[in-house]
Amino acid sequence: MIELTDISKSYQTGSASVEAIKHINLTIAKGEIFGIIGHSGAGKSTLLRTVNLLERPTTGTVKVGDVELTKLTSSQLQKERRRIGMIFQHFNLLAMATVRDNIAFPLRLAKLSKSAIRSRVNELLLLVGLEQHADKYPAQLSGGQKQRVGIARALASDPDVLLCDEATSALDPQTTNAILALLLDINKKLGITILLITHEMHVIRTICDRVAVIDSGEVVEMGDVLDVFLKP
Ligand code: ADP
Ligand code: ADP
Repeated sequence: MIELTDISKSYQTGSASVEAIKHINLTIAKGEIFGIIGHSGAGKSTLLRTVNLLERPTTGTVKVGDVELTKLTSSQLQKERRRIGMIFQHFNLLAMATVRDNIAFPLRLAKLSKSAIRSRVNELLLLVGLEQHADKYPAQLSGGQKQRVGIARALASDPDVLLCDEATSALDPQTTNAILALLLDINKKLGITILLITHEMHVIRTICDRVAVIDSGEVVEMGDVLDVFLKP
């Protein structure tokens, strides 16, 4: 479902150049929950953001489903991005919009009819357990509830892939577990492929099938979670 081939990314800051990720190859199967773990600065964010080309890799190709994203024009890419949802550490909700309107946002962009948006949003509210909170504003929600809104919004256009950027790092342990359970439930129910980055071992152990350990921009270990972390 996701195929990254020989991905590198350099950032230019003044006259210095930082190679944030180096020659990464990664293949993630449909329906898999794949985790990338590493210290701060290891290159996790950069790697995750190449999958939907929020960061354009300096070299290498990105394929999602059957489509090679790295060779698309920007208008083609915009359309393909609807197949890739994303959630964030700090939720990135619209503060001036209600829960309902936050979730509806991508559907409005996709120009769905009002009635189609209404019924899709109701479906999503139910899926993430926010039907009682539809008319609240983000400031009236707990962190876990905010992330549920983020998840519902990311799933609005029924994507094949969900990218999670430190999605539980701002949450307490109990809320983290509830959000991980929701992600697992969504993975099972919808068959969606999940790629997540985290610095927390607990997240990897709780929901991931496979894991890659990244250090200084390179994959230093990769395999089934049980093999990578329970080896003697
Ligand atoms: P992580 O997500 O693992 O913390 P990042 O992908 O954010 O790692 O960063 C990897 C490296 O690339 C770090 O050295 C970071 O400082 C650098 N970096 C990330 N984004 C930029 C940027 N926009 N400009 C310059 N350097 C960056
Ligand atoms: P995190 O590690 O939590 O993902 P960071 O603090 O590393 O977040 O990065 C936050 C933002 O700053 C990102 O958009 C990243 O691209 C950018 N960034 C990170 N490191 C640098 C850097 N050395 N120079 C410029 N921008 C950077």
